[in-house]
Amino acid sequence: MSDHISQPRLLLRRLHRVMAGDDRAQVKLDQIVKAIAQNMVAEVCSIYLARAGGIFELFATEGLKEEAVHQTRMQVGEGLVGFVAERGLPLNLSEAPSHPRFSYRPETGEELYHSFLGVPILYGGRVNGILVVQNVAPRRYREEEVEALQTIGMVLAELVGGGALIKMDELSEAASITGEPVTLTGMPMTDGIGIGVAVFHEPRAEVRIKVADDVDEEFVRLEDGIAALRLQLDEMISHPDLAQGGEHREVLETYRMFAYDQGWHSKMQDAVRAGLTAEAGVERVQQENRARMQTIRDPYLRERLGDFDDIANRLIRTIQGGGVFVAHESLQENTILIARSLGPAEIMDYDRTLLKGIALEEGSPTAHVAIIARAMGIPIIGRIPGLIQHIDGGDQVAVDSASSHVLVRPSDDVVESVQHAIDARHKLFAEYAAERDYPAITKDGERFSLLINAGMRADMSMVEQTGAEGVGLYRTEFQFMVSPTLPKVEEQRKVYADVMEAAGKHPVVFRTLDIGGDKTVPFLPRMEEENPAMGWRAIRLALDRPALLRYQLRALLYATVGRDLHVMFPMIADVSEMKAVKALLAAEVLRLTRFDKEGPNSIKVGCMLEIPSLAWQMDMLLKEVDFISIGTNDLMQFFFACDRSNPMLAGRYDLLCPPVLNFLQSTILACHRSNVPVTLCGEMGGRPLEAMALAGIGLTRFSVSPAAIGPVKRMIRSMNLSSLKQFMQESIGFTEHSLRDRINLYAHDHGIILE
Ligand code: PEP
Ligand code: MG
Repeated sequence: MSDHISQPRLLLRRLHRVMAGDDRAQVKLDQIVKAIAQNMVAEVCSIYLARAGGIFELFATEGLKEEAVHQTRMQVGEGLVGFVAERGLPLNLSEAPSHPRFSYRPETGEELYHSFLGVPILYGGRVNGILVVQNVAPRRYREEEVEALQTIGMVLAELVGGGALIKMDELSEAASITGEPVTLTGMPMTDGIGIGVAVFHEPRAEVRIKVADDVDEEFVRLEDGIAALRLQLDEMISHPDLAQGGEHREVLETYRMFAYDQGWHSKMQDAVRAGLTAEAGVERVQQENRARMQTIRDPYLRERLGDFDDIANRLIRTIQGGGVFVAHESLQENTILIARSLGPAEIMDYDRTLLKGIALEEGSPTAHVAIIARAMGIPIIGRIPGLIQHIDGGDQVAVDSASSHVLVRPSDDVVESVQHAIDARHKLFAEYAAERDYPAITKDGERFSLLINAGMRADMSMVEQTGAEGVGLYRTEFQFMVSPTLPKVEEQRKVYADVMEAAGKHPVVFRTLDIGGDKTVPFLPRMEEENPAMGWRAIRLALDRPALLRYQLRALLYATVGRDLHVMFPMIADVSEMKAVKALLAAEVLRLTRFDKEGPNSIKVGCMLEIPSLAWQMDMLLKEVDFISIGTNDLMQFFFACDRSNPMLAGRYDLLCPPVLNFLQSTILACHRSNVPVTLCGEMGGRPLEAMALAGIGLTRFSVSPAAIGPVKRMIRSMNLSSLKQFMQESIGFTEHSLRDRINLYAHDHGIILE
């Protein structure tokens, strides 16, 4: 056999001739199995093709009994053939009959053969058939032999995919053995439910022509493609915007390393020498990488091999002359975006009206992309290992945050129930919209203030749509995160002025830059920090680099001429830091007068409470500020010393517990005593049950994501505050780990609406 596989090109040529001939497809298939068996000195060569219902039927054989053709059928998962179909990976056995999955079929006479090599015939990522060779003598096939058979399988996929052997409609049904519905479980990063068509953020390039007409020419195409890819990456890396490093640069550096990898290069050269086209050669090597990826346990290495996937894709597109793919151009009406990871800048490139959901292999709920998607109302499920291997572009996919599931190719009844859930959600939102002008007043006449969190100009329409009083937290860092260079004062001013304009009469609280840590910006070096959330971020960075903050404050002053400016500072740890940032603001105000420039009518200065230490200086702090905003997202991870992005800790502490509620109550009451308005702007306030508990300990101002305004307002309108306060006062004296059940029961017993 080894002599012959040294000439796989010969075999490929022969197959190509057979396939290009005028014979019927079945005749071609019979010729093909003969040619393969002969070339590979195998006693048996068989081709099984997928039919509807996940069945693999023997379509042609050289060596097995003739009468088995079109008679022997295996289900996915049944026998060795079904096992190859199930895994989509080659199976190489020296003692096939002793494999636990071996299933004896008397009509084939298969028991004679000891060695077995089966490879999937993949078409567009789907298993469309299985190609098998068998030998009487027990032996394990060598790696080159496996590779040769895989290459042949790839070429055969063309014949099968053309629909000549199995009609197109059955073929597409049969293809749903990949086909079959798959439920993947991940971590919800934003709420919601959506269904649509899978579109890859960086789609897999299509390789149509697999067999080379002219091997030398294909070799040149491959070499040119690699050279162009390397050049592309070199140019991208040497761009001045990336001079200072950052995440973008790191990714590109890794890609460049792969692009120069000799092992990868020579494997692709071998594949082309064997008779494949340049792009088919890249795909061939990538299939092997992907198969290897599935067997690797180490998450870091798996991720690196995933990078190979991206770079191979890029190379195919380069060979095809496509250049860099512009993802959003391929969006359809209802798109579920599939990606390994997605940055905040990338998501903003997409048209939000077309995106119905996002599924990611990586990601965490606190990632910035999640905050943006939440603002856009797009459900995301992240942390789904192997996601990309399970989905093909064009598959129907549903993303359901409530169950943490990504449903791939769901069955009709599942689609129906997803649609019901979506309809119910729309109905609910329509009801909230109808309640937009209802006041946020409790049954016993207590008034609440509901504001929204925003971060993009596009969010501003939500103030009107939700009937919110204004914007309680405008995260200014988004503009910085999507900009390759530091936005100039004028650019910043324009964004803030636009936001003010869009807000009309409603107030907007601008929070100064909270970057650093895990919120990286392209124009600052990315620091390796052990605890980025507790690292060099937000005001710490701003105090060390005051120019950054001063420019931002200047832009805010220019943008609010003739209006009221509300500005607050993130991650303040003590009063002295608050005084320091106020001094920077004062210097900018002075500069205005010195240059005889107009400024805002009034300036209200606030402080975010995100670091527990600050709570021990409340009395002094309250003399320095006009308002306080409690950022529970950060505050609570420091309060419990519990990393919010560590999945092992998810659910360990419940925010509805005595320590949190006691702490928040004393802070809120301190603000009330000093007549300093206090708002809570963390995600906690957007969940009706949590919002109810917070109301019960004295909070009256909530800044939440726009989608939460309706549910929180309903909750407020359905309760009696004085009896809730009494109940909460008793409850926070208990010592249970969580008060959730108790508070839930109270809501239930008192008819408080928590939807
Ligand atoms: C918070 O920490 O609660 C907060 C609102 O800030 P961010 O989520 O932007 O860190
Ligand atoms: Mg924060």
